[in-house]
Amino acid sequence: MAQKMDISSAKQNEHNMKFVLDKYNLGPIKTSINPKDNKAYWDKIAQFWKVSPEAARCRLCANCEYYDNTESMMLQMDTIPLNKYDMDGGGRGYCCKFDFICHNLRTCSAQEPKKYVKPKDAEVIPPQYKEGNMLKLKLGVD
Ligand code: SF4
Repeated sequence: MAQKMDISSAKQNEHNMKFVLDKYNLGPIKTSINPKDNKAYWDKIAQFWKVSPEAARCRLCANCEYYDNTESMMLQMDTIPLNKYDMDGGGRGYCCKFDFICHNLRTCSAQEPKKYVKPKDAEVIPPQYKEGNMLKLKLGVD
């Protein structure tokens, strides 16, 4: 069943986000996928989690168990106007723990890794498309 967003205004969204910024080290403010950027931020949160900085950079809102980026939630979030954090966070998702709009490329100290189970009906690449068989496919030979 679709979840309901628990904020009704941009003001309430900003208020809740500020709480996470202040108390749960939400960040980085300016996101980047370059593994050399935001070193101070990732080193600090890695220390908090007792993991390597490389592992910390893999713990994002995007794969947090509190993050809802389902289609129905994305439609609900459209009722809240975009703000400056939306412009560089890599896309919106709703934080069900703190009730605000967070972003794929940020994280916070309350991040909990989401589990993934591959669906049984996941598509299988036909054997002729597997590496090594592509040339045969292009040449039209068996
Ligand atoms: S609890 Fe999860 S979804 Fe919410 S801000 Fe923290 S990392 Fe992002």
